[in-house]
Amino acid sequence: MHIFLTHFHWDHIQGFPFFAPLYDPEDVIKVIGPKQKDIDVQNLFAGQMGPIYFPVPFSLVAAEMEFEHLNDGGYEVGDFELEVMRVRHPSFVIGYKIKIDGHVICFIPDNEIEGDMYPELEPDFRTRLVDFCGDADLLLHDSMYTEDEYPHRHGWGHSTFEQTLQLGLDAGVNKLLFFHHDPMRTDYEISAIVAKMREHAARSGSGMIIDAAREGVDYRMDGDA
Ligand SMILES: [Zn+2]
Ligand SMILES: [Zn+2]
Repeated sequence: MHIFLTHFHWDHIQGFPFFAPLYDPEDVIKVIGPKQKDIDVQNLFAGQMGPIYFPVPFSLVAAEMEFEHLNDGGYEVGDFELEVMRVRHPSFVIGYKIKIDGHVICFIPDNEIEGDMYPELEPDFRTRLVDFCGDADLLLHDSMYTEDEYPHRHGWGHSTFEQTLQLGLDAGVNKLLFFHHDPMRTDYEISAIVAKMREHAARSGSGMIIDAAREGVDYRMDGDA
């Protein structure tokens, strides 16, 4: 089993100590993600199992665990080819481009498209991002805020629905899923925003399929949910 992480904020790793396969000696689990300064992936992963946070220490994990750094470049496993790009979000955070059977999926859960927090990612960050997502069959991207909320959240490392829509249009993706919803947003609000974004896209003449990511839905590369 391979687990690819974009970064180590709680909302992305908190379930691991309770992940049953960790305690099965038959399992082999490889965790791949970006090293944070001089802290390696194993320490980042095991750190949340310190005694203050969790009663079972990492040393009692029964599965065979492997760890690997992936801060830039690519990775291959089985028929999957992955490419990563560092994005704008606090700490060292990556997005993934996954290629399988001629299809391309981009997974970028945390990224501030219009931000300017990391000078080292400038001046061509957005151009590189559009290129990275170019012609993806499926793009899942951060859509945490509305345009009204964003001025109060500038620099927090998340994007608006409108910014994400424009990225999808500019990159020519086939299907866009708004992702990493604000936890305070209701399903009703998300549905209303999705309807508005579909109108925006239709007005620009795009045939991009637009939806909000939700649990329990299978997305197939033929365009059917
Ligand atoms: Zn985060
Ligand atoms: Zn997050």
